[in-house]
Amino acid sequence: LTVELTVLGTSGGYAGPGKACSGYLLRGAAGTLMLDIGPGSLANMLKYIGADDLGALSITHMHYDHYVDIYGLLTARRFWESPLPPLRVYAPSGAEEFLSRVISERSRKEFSACLEITEHEPWSEREVEGFKLITAPSRHVVESYSFRIEAEGKSVCYSGDTDICDELIELAEGVDLLICESTFTSEVSEKEKGHLSGIEAGEVAVRARAGSLMITHVWPTLSGERAVEDAGSGYRGPVMLAREGMVIEL
Ligand SMILES: [Zn+2]
Repeated sequence: LTVELTVLGTSGGYAGPGKACSGYLLRGAAGTLMLDIGPGSLANMLKYIGADDLGALSITHMHYDHYVDIYGLLTARRFWESPLPPLRVYAPSGAEEFLSRVISERSRKEFSACLEITEHEPWSEREVEGFKLITAPSRHVVESYSFRIEAEGKSVCYSGDTDICDELIELAEGVDLLICESTFTSEVSEKEKGHLSGIEAGEVAVRARAGSLMITHVWPTLSGERAVEDAGSGYRGPVMLAREGMVIEL
């Protein structure tokens, strides 16, 4: 039995040329779980599974680069050739109201019927599609979470968008793979608060004793290779740069 991670989108803030924003697909023996669904990630998801095959979706925070393709996914499911159950979505508080804001009044009910939202709670542990999903609050500019997923004795932690914080280090403790945002690199002298730099992503991996590190969510005008170098200056384990289409067996 294996758990397979497929990288669907890696761009930070907006989609870089030919790339997509945050999206990660986990496939295990008991089901499928997608983490974030940023612009372009649905197109990539559909290369691997059908819109009817996704078991559940977990969203780190309600910034458009992490959720906006949910509209496409729900459109596909709503008009599927045979009726589909509502998609189970785990999301920050107020997500249902937030998502329905751009839906026209007359379609709002049908839209909501395609969804079954459970709001995240800090440090909750849930069984989702055969995975254990653990959520920790992260330090971003809106309510935001990091996830740890465990299955078949393997573990992966996904930072979402966050500044450096003890919660992420605690959540990622001893994880096999840490997927960590590195919005900024050493190309910029000062980063924006609420995000990590490559050096900080390396620091998180060191402090959490992560088995390996995947750098993601790099700002499109900055260098992903530079972010990897920055992270590797402190962290001695394997560091890779997330790329769309990457499939990793955990
Ligand atoms: Zn983001």
